[in-house]
Amino acid sequence: LTSINSYFESTKRTYLNGANIPKQLIGAALNERVENIDHNGCEPGDEDTFFVADLGEVYRQHMRWKLNLPRVKPFYAVKCNPDPQVLRLLAELGTGFDCASKAEIEQVLKMDIDPDRIIYAQPCKTNSYVRYAASHGVKQMTFDNADELYKIKKLYPGAELFLRISTDDSSSLCRLSLKFGAAMDTTDALLALAKELGLNVVGVSFHVGSGASDASAFWNAVQDARIVFDRAQEYGFNLQTLDVGGGFSSDTFEEMAAVLRQALDEFMPAHVNIIGEPGRYYVSSAFTLATHIIARRTIEDPVTGQKSYMVYLNDGLYGNFSSIMFDHQHPVAQVLRRGDRGYFDTAAARESRDGIEYSIWGPTCDGIDRITESIRFDHTLDVGDWLYFENMGAYTKCSATRFNGFTDAHDVVYVASEPGARALLGMN
Ligand code: PLP
Repeated sequence: LTSINSYFESTKRTYLNGANIPKQLIGAALNERVENIDHNGCEPGDEDTFFVADLGEVYRQHMRWKLNLPRVKPFYAVKCNPDPQVLRLLAELGTGFDCASKAEIEQVLKMDIDPDRIIYAQPCKTNSYVRYAASHGVKQMTFDNADELYKIKKLYPGAELFLRISTDDSSSLCRLSLKFGAAMDTTDALLALAKELGLNVVGVSFHVGSGASDASAFWNAVQDARIVFDRAQEYGFNLQTLDVGGGFSSDTFEEMAAVLRQALDEFMPAHVNIIGEPGRYYVSSAFTLATHIIARRTIEDPVTGQKSYMVYLNDGLYGNFSSIMFDHQHPVAQVLRRGDRGYFDTAAARESRDGIEYSIWGPTCDGIDRITESIRFDHTLDVGDWLYFENMGAYTKCSATRFNGFTDAHDVVYVASEPGARALLGMN
C-alpha cells in the first residue's frame, strides 16, 4: 500500500519538468493540438479552449480507492463530470453510478448498465423523473423528508429507499447539508411514516460535503447511521446498505479513507454492504484545460512607469472556470506555448515571484469574469500564447454556460497513461 501510494504522490509533479510519464503524455497531447492550429488563418472556434483527459489517472484513482477502501463499492457521481469516456472506463471497471436526474440516468442506461448499478441519489426528485426511474427499473433512491415519501408511495411504491441523514459539513468546500439530509431527531418519524405507507427502506445515506477536509465528519456520520440502522430494526426494517456519499479529495484521500475504514469496522458489521458516491476524487486531476490568450491590455504605473498586463482568455467563469464560482476553486495558470512562436523555456514559464504581473480574465462582458487577480511570470505573455490549468476535471465543464454566445462544448483529447485503462477502452 505504501509504495503504491507514493507512486500516486509522484504523479503530482508538473508536466514541464519532464520527469514522469503521465505528465509527459499530457504535455505532448497539449502541444500537439496547439501546434496544429494555424494561428494566423484559422476559422472561428479552431483555437477554442480544449481539455486533455488522462484516463489512466481515473484508472489509478480507482485502484487507489480499492486499496484504501476495499469495503466500499464506488457509485461514481455523474454530475461531477459526465464525460462519456470516463463513464465508459468506470463501467468497465465495474463501478456503480450516482445519478441526479433523468438525463443522467438515461446516459448511464444507454451504456447497457444494469439498473441495479444506479442510485438515484437526489432526495427531492421531479415527479416525471421518478416515473422514468420506475419504468426503467432504477429502484435505489434517496429521501429525507415526509413529502418525498408520499410522492414515492404514489409514483414508485416498490422503490428501494435510502434515508439520507444530515452531517456536520462545516469543513467542506460545498456544503450540502444546508439543503439536504434529515436531522437525526426527525429520522424516527420518517421511518414510522415509511412503515405506515408500506414502503421499503433498505439503507441509510449521507454526504459529508463536497471537498470535505475534516475526517471526523465521516466518523460521526457513520456513528449516526448506526443509530438509524438500529432504530429502523425496531420499525421492522432490515437495512442492508450504507451509502457513505462523496466528499473525497485526492490530496487528503488516504487520511479520510483511514478514518472511514475504522468507522465502518467499528459501527458496521461485515454483512452490511457499503457503497459510496465519489465524484471529484475520480476526475479532478485527470483533466487539464488549455486556453488561448485572445487579448491583452497594458497597464502602466503612473509613478514608477512599471508595466503590468491584463490578459483575456477564451474561457472564463461563465465557461469551464465555473468552478471558481460554484466550487470555490483557485485554478493556477501555467504557460504552455507562445502561439505559433514555439515553446517557452520551461524554467521561466512557471509562476515567478519577481516576474511581470498579470491578471487573467475571461472573455465575457461581465467584470466578475476574472480567473486570477495577480500572478507573475518571467516571460512576457502576448495575444496568441497558450496557458494551461491542471486539476480541471471536477465541476467545470458540466456547469459551463453559453453566456455571450461562447460555446459550452469543448473538445477533449483523450490519453491513457495506464496500460490497464488502454486495454479496457481499446486505445492504442
Ligand atoms: N452524491 C451527492 C448526493 C452529491 O450531491 C454530490 C455532490 O454534490 C456527490 C455525491 C459527489 O460529491 P464529491 O464530488 O464531493 O465526491
